Amino acid sequence: MPLFMMRVLIVGGGIGGLALAKFLEKKKIDYLIIEKAKKFKSIGYVLGLWPNAGAMLKKLRVYKEIKEKSIVLPYFELQSADGKALGRESLAKVCKGYGRVIETERDTIHRALRKLVKKSKMHMGVTVKKLIQLDDGIEVQFSNGKKETFDLVVGADGINSQIREYVVPKKDVDYTGRTFWMFWCKKTKNLPKGVVYQAGEESLLSIFPTKSKKGYTIGLSMAAKPHYCEKDSDFSKTIKDRFSFMKGSAPKIINSLPKRPSEMYHHDDDEMHLSEWHKGRIVLMGDSCHALSPLMGMGAAMALESAYVLAEELANNDSIPKSLAAYKKRRLPRIKKLVIASKIIHLTVFQIPKSLEIVRDNYLGKIMLAQYMKLLRKFLGEKI
Ligand SMILES: Cc1cc2nc3c(=O)[nH]c(=O)nc-3n(C[C@H](O)[C@H](O)[C@H](O)COP(=O)(O)OP(=O)(O)OC[C@H]3O[C@@H](n4cnc5c(N)ncnc54)[C@H](O)[C@@H]3O)c2cc1C
Repeated sequence: MPLFMMRVLIVGGGIGGLALAKFLEKKKIDYLIIEKAKKFKSIGYVLGLWPNAGAMLKKLRVYKEIKEKSIVLPYFELQSADGKALGRESLAKVCKGYGRVIETERDTIHRALRKLVKKSKMHMGVTVKKLIQLDDGIEVQFSNGKKETFDLVVGADGINSQIREYVVPKKDVDYTGRTFWMFWCKKTKNLPKGVVYQAGEESLLSIFPTKSKKGYTIGLSMAAKPHYCEKDSDFSKTIKDRFSFMKGSAPKIINSLPKRPSEMYHHDDDEMHLSEWHKGRIVLMGDSCHALSPLMGMGAAMALESAYVLAEELANNDSIPKSLAAYKKRRLPRIKKLVIASKIIHLTVFQIPKSLEIVRDNYLGKIMLAQYMKLLRKFLGEKI
């Protein structure tokens, strides 16, 4: 059977799953998306979109719409705990020749992508009960009791992927050793125009400007081992204890903490580094196989790129095994570069022991920031 006649089940209607649906449609490959949420809610904060993400959104013809609701980021600055700039990189310079970095609400991107998919092609409130690999297809038993056979199942179901179990049983997430909160903070005159990361005592306060009426997105991240998220009953006290020593914009921000935990997003900073991405007729894509710490700002871009490459390889090869092998061969080395960068930056900037902070603040911080930007510039120039 020519591959363009196949039918693909996409499990997960996040950014990666929706983008894949449209890329498959362009290649005339039929698909169905199932999404476990009964309804999409306007939740989430902001995402940084580097030009490589922009290039994918342009292919999907939604970039203009998203950019209108985003801000163009002028710079990225690393600060010490007392608010002193350790290094500032112009993002226009880093991305020269490729485009700009924009900051936008996740919901804005998700809404734009949702419009690309026909309602009849997305079944909400449905998940997988069981997958059975057959010689000529894959039988899917759905949570609603229905049963159907597809040619391929794609696990685009995020970092806590259910489908991953069928490829690599019992694979734990890679905990970066950090827990983080996100919340909205009202805009005030003195907040910066670019992204600022303020680091000290293994804590990190991040300021993300947005165009949203809700204000700036603030990220607070701190070292906490082992997995921490579920255990904290008094987030306000924890945050005040760990961040009130910071100066600069920090005191104002910490004083504006939301009162209710429901107004904050609290999560442990997990990554997922897999080297097996497919088994038989099951393949993983996006956070289910290559989730990066949100501090790296590349998660959505990598999911979009993977969606594009997977659709392309399915259309270009004459068998599913060849397509999946080619997809992984193109994607894994690129993702690995970011995984290594993430580890290095966590160890040398975000998570550096207090005794070595003097090294980061006087020397290492500026170098690491410049190195990361250099890597990203090279990254932008590579063919995906
Ligand atoms: C609601 C939400 C809000 C987010 N907000 C932010 C944010 O503010 N900032 C940020 O940096 N990142 C955020 N992220 C993560 C970010 O979107 C992803 O890291 C990135 O876009 C990669 O996307 P993905 O499609 O691989 O995974 P995800 O965006 O996580 O999408 C996975 C999708 O699969 C669905 N799903 C999960 N399990 C199943 C299952 N068993 N069956 C069917 N469907 C399933 C989920 O409901 C979700 O819609 C958010 C993710 C979600 C789901």
